[in-house]
Amino acid sequence: MMLILENVIQKRVHKERAPSYPSLSSLLEAVRGCRACESSLPMGPRPVLACDERSRVLIVGQAPGLRVHETGIPWNDRSGERLREWMGIDRETFYDASRIAIIPMGYCYPGKGERGDLPPRTECASMWLGELLKWLPRIELCLLLGLYSQRYFLGDGLSLTDRVFSWRSYPSGVIPLPHPSPRNALWFKKNEWFSKELLPDLRLRVGKALSACDEKPLIGDPAEESLPKLPKRIGRKKNPPHDLAG
Ligand code: SF4
Repeated sequence: MMLILENVIQKRVHKERAPSYPSLSSLLEAVRGCRACESSLPMGPRPVLACDERSRVLIVGQAPGLRVHETGIPWNDRSGERLREWMGIDRETFYDASRIAIIPMGYCYPGKGERGDLPPRTECASMWLGELLKWLPRIELCLLLGLYSQRYFLGDGLSLTDRVFSWRSYPSGVIPLPHPSPRNALWFKKNEWFSKELLPDLRLRVGKALSACDEKPLIGDPAEESLPKLPKRIGRKKNPPHDLAG
């Protein structure tokens, strides 16, 4: 299992503890039946996520918007269209959980605040994320979309722009990205290096991770295989090799 996921498991759950569910499907059934913060959800609970023990790419976004809540399909909106374009893949590949796991920071639509959708509920990560990651031993690439996932996984105190700008300084299995929401159109316009430099690299890494899908069949017990081995802190490399102009 890639180092960053090991790190999260180290920090958030007891590494020596075996998975609490006998299978990923039983865990997902429990997640989908979760009612932990029902009283705070204006549309009620409807956890939207997808993953498989064979998944190679993990997408960690924020929380479902209203359209995603209504359809029950993750990234089934304009943000999803942009994300698929960034990754260079079609809908069929995107929604193939044996290739791509989609686990946001919050699994249910949190409702609207004064400035758009509310932040993802924090209960999902504390209750479920560590357990889910134990069942994803094949992840080779983790895309962290937006501030919430980056704060949780990286915790380096940088601004989103600084993190994304120095994407090459993170381990090759991790890419911090802005959220692909149309609301961020100005950011995309102001930061041309993003589409010129980062996106081609993103597509290359996604293609490489997905090409491994057909190479290594899943064998053994994923839960056993995914148990973290060494407690290591994830951080940026000391001398980021980027040569981007502002
Ligand atoms: S937001 Fe998360 S913790 Fe709350 S009910 Fe939905 S799945 Fe459960």
